[in-house]
Amino acid sequence: MKRTEYRLVLLGPPGSGKGTQAILLSIHYRIPQISTGDILRAETLQISELGRTVSGYMVQGLLVPDDLMIAIARKRLAENDCARGFILDGFPRTIGQARSLQENGISIDDVIYLDVSDNVLLKRLTGRRICPGCSRMYHMQFNPPETDEICDDCGIALITRDDDGERIVRKRIGIFHEMTFPLIDHFKKLSGVRFHSINGFLADAGSPQEVFRQIRSDLETAGS
Ligand code: AMP
Repeated sequence: MKRTEYRLVLLGPPGSGKGTQAILLSIHYRIPQISTGDILRAETLQISELGRTVSGYMVQGLLVPDDLMIAIARKRLAENDCARGFILDGFPRTIGQARSLQENGISIDDVIYLDVSDNVLLKRLTGRRICPGCSRMYHMQFNPPETDEICDDCGIALITRDDDGERIVRKRIGIFHEMTFPLIDHFKKLSGVRFHSINGFLADAGSPQEVFRQIRSDLETAGS
């Protein structure tokens, strides 16, 4: 029987392509992409105490504390558009955050882990550029704009995310290994959750579409 509901978690190190895959999945299955990174970045643009606090963690490549993240995710997941499913992109990132899903009665159908080696991550993240106008992402090596460092759509200069400099990127990868990697075992053991490990390198060999095809095939085989 064809599946109609997808409550997905995208797990993977920074630069593994979670954001790109979340957008493709969101369009394909018509369910919202919930990127806690995007929610936090929007918060940092507010002139507020919370915005300043969050920004302090993000620019250093540190994780925002669990209590705050759990409250943010819980509020977002309670919105109407999540009723038929969602794609969690960047949450949970700690065991405490993962447990909060169960504690709040939020069940997960599938966890997709994007596996990419540290060297590739470093190359991908430090080459990443973003358009400050439309948020379109580029990579100076794998997906460059037509004109050097200018957005193809908006014609404005691309920027590097504050936390994509090499020192901070290394720290973010280290934090992934320490805090987020243990979630693989956590989800593998959790009953009712289907765990899929996907080779995220395919995005370099072919295109992100290759990774997307693999994810869809895994999800649809698991659900049939
Ligand atoms: P991302 O856009 O997912 O790479 O997230 C960017 C930054 O936002 C991370 O380096 C963290 O500082 C913060 N962040 C995003 N999601 C979480 C989370 N679930 N827990 C803690 N910090 C987070």
